[in-house]
Amino acid sequence: SMEQTMFKNLLDGVRSSAATSINKSSAQQRLANMLRDGGLVMHYQMLQSVSDKKICSFEALIRYKNAAGKLYPPTFIGDFQLLNAMPMLDKAVIEQVLADMQQMPLSSERRVAINISVASIEQPDFVDHLLSRLQHYQISPQWLEIEITEEAILSDNVHLSRTMEALQSQGIKVAMDDFGTGYASFPHLLKYPFDKVKIDRSLLLDAVTDKGRALYPLVAQIGEIANCKIVAEGVETDQEYEFVANSGVDIVQGFLIARPQPLEDVLEALRAE
Ligand code: C2E
Ligand code: MG
Ligand code: MG
Ligand code: MG
Repeated sequence: SMEQTMFKNLLDGVRSSAATSINKSSAQQRLANMLRDGGLVMHYQMLQSVSDKKICSFEALIRYKNAAGKLYPPTFIGDFQLLNAMPMLDKAVIEQVLADMQQMPLSSERRVAINISVASIEQPDFVDHLLSRLQHYQISPQWLEIEITEEAILSDNVHLSRTMEALQSQGIKVAMDDFGTGYASFPHLLKYPFDKVKIDRSLLLDAVTDKGRALYPLVAQIGEIANCKIVAEGVETDQEYEFVANSGVDIVQGFLIARPQPLEDVLEALRAE
C-alpha cells in the first residue's frame, strides 16, 4: 500500500541518517525497531465552531501502531528530532494526509490542519514541496491549514515571514500552536500574520486558580488583537467549554467534542451529522 511505501522510505532514511553520538545511535535503533514491527498512522480530531456548533476543521495527529498497541507522538517525536529527521517525518505525514483528504468532505470552511515542525519550516524548499504535493493529489490549498509551534517565531524572522506569505498567498491558513507555553510574547505574535492562535491546554488547566481564570480571557484577547481566530485546546468538560466560550474563544478542540480517530471513524461521524 501507499502507506507502507511511504513509511519504508522513512525507515530507510532513519537507518541511513548519520548517528554521530551514542544518543543518536540509540534513537536510530529505537526508531528502526519501532518502524520494523509496526506502522505510523494518522488520526483526525474534529474541531467545533462555537457560534454555529459545526465541525470547522480536523487536526491530523500521528500515532504509532503495532500488535501490542498504540504509541503517542510525545514518545517518539523526540527521537526524530535528535536525528534531524523531522523534515522526513513531516514529508511522510504530508503524503498520508493529502491522500486521506481526497476522501474527506472539505471546503475553505472545513479544513485539515497539519502540524509542521520548525525544522521543516526552515527547509528552503518546504513551500515548493508542499504545493507540488497538493497539485499531485489534486487538493485545493484552501482546504489546508498548517500549525506551527510558537518557538518557530523565535528562529529566522525573515525566512518565517516569507514562508507564511508564500503559504497564505496560495490560500493556506497558518495557525500558531500551543500559544501561552512560554516562548512567544504579544509583540512577537503581532509581527506575523497568523490566521489562528491555539491556546495551549496548560492555560486551561491553570484556570482553576483565580489568577489563571483571569489570564485566560486576556490571552484570547491578545489573539483577537492580532486578528486571529482563537482556538481552545484540550476542552474535556462542559464546564471548561462554558469557560472558554465566555473567554472569547471561537473554536473548541478537545475530547468533549471528539477524540482523535482513524479516518474511517471520522467519515462515519460526518455521515451521521
Ligand atoms: P498539538 O499539536 O498541540 O496537538 C494536540 C494534542 O492534544 C494531541 O496530542 C491531542 O491528542 C491532544 N488532545 C486533544 N484534545 C485533548 C483533550 O481534550 N485533552 C487532552 N488531555 N489532550 C487532548 P498528541 O496527538 O499526543 O500530539 C502531541 C503533539 O505531538 C502535538 O501537539 C504536536 O505538537 C505533535 N504532533 C502530533 N502529530 C504530529 C504530526 O503529524 N507531525 C508533527 N510534526 N507533530 C505532530
Ligand atoms: Mg497542533
Ligand atoms: Mg496544539
Ligand atoms: Mg498543545
